[in-house]
Amino acid sequence: MHKIPAGEVLNELKLIGAKRILIQSPEGLRREAEALGSFLEENGVEVILHGEVNYGACDPADREARSLGCDALVHLGHSYMKLHLEVPTIFVPAFAEVDVVPALEGNLGEIRKLGKRIALVTTAQHVHQLGKARKFLEGKGFEVLVGKGDSRVSWPGQVLGCNFSSARVDAEGVLFIGAGYFHPLGVAVATGKPTLAVNPYSGDVTWMKEEAERLIRKRWAQIAKAIDAESFGVVTSTKKGQLRLGEARRIVRLLREHGKEAELLVMNRISYPALEGFSFDAYVVVACPRIPIDDYENWRKPVLTPKEVEILLGLREDYEFDEIPGGERTEDEPLGVALHGYRDSI
Ligand code: SF4
Repeated sequence: MHKIPAGEVLNELKLIGAKRILIQSPEGLRREAEALGSFLEENGVEVILHGEVNYGACDPADREARSLGCDALVHLGHSYMKLHLEVPTIFVPAFAEVDVVPALEGNLGEIRKLGKRIALVTTAQHVHQLGKARKFLEGKGFEVLVGKGDSRVSWPGQVLGCNFSSARVDAEGVLFIGAGYFHPLGVAVATGKPTLAVNPYSGDVTWMKEEAERLIRKRWAQIAKAIDAESFGVVTSTKKGQLRLGEARRIVRLLREHGKEAELLVMNRISYPALEGFSFDAYVVVACPRIPIDDYENWRKPVLTPKEVEILLGLREDYEFDEIPGGERTEDEPLGVALHGYRDSI
């Protein structure tokens, strides 16, 4: 179970004057959502639990909350993302309780191979321990750089599967703390630097070079598969943090300028089965970058990212990871707060 600061959530809801709320949670936090719901009900707040699967702060259920007559949305498991929200929304990140230092201590020999000047990055689950990790590593003689990142991330040093801005610092290598494979892989491809992933749960480390090379090879194969495609479906998502309409239009325009047929499509949850009836030869996903990369084996047609289309059309030579950039972070934006967002977001 993750610790959810139920008392703080209640206080925030009182500040808003919320009487009925919607709680949205990822699959891993369903029990926590239930427990929070019971606590809030006992304290006089009517609660509705949102049952759809949620993968990120990019997909807040604020529209649903509004249509249900809720005064607020409580979004569990992800950190604040700057979006135009239709109801006051409280983002409640779930911080993991595992201590990251033992895994660092057990792998100092490998970490030293990154060089002396290293970038330190992590996901929202471990970001509260970044200061502790930094202090530990500095005590061992490293120069540790924690990038500020752009406004799509909540904290310095935080990476998302679609944003590696905090990893772009002047370091010899990048140390990623966290479980899972996609984030450090993205860091390695996006920065082109030696990247070591330290898993604080298992204590294992993984060098990402081979994985990154394998991914790039697979992506070149997707591009090659699309080389004879004459018609493209360019798909974006209605999820608020994935709706990249300007970029999708740019890709449609580029394809047409190069003699291809291209149509803009929009859907909420992008998956190939839902597109089966269309006759396009290939697709471009201009939404969450994980979709074409993680899920391409389930697509019967080639599926590309916007940058891969540029390669296909001969406008770009080097492979680049698709990212969703935020704006420049302004100094007065809140950083490192467990519960924040709604006042800046509406
Ligand atoms: S767009 Fe994809 S990678 Fe980015 S936050 Fe949303 S689910 Fe995560």
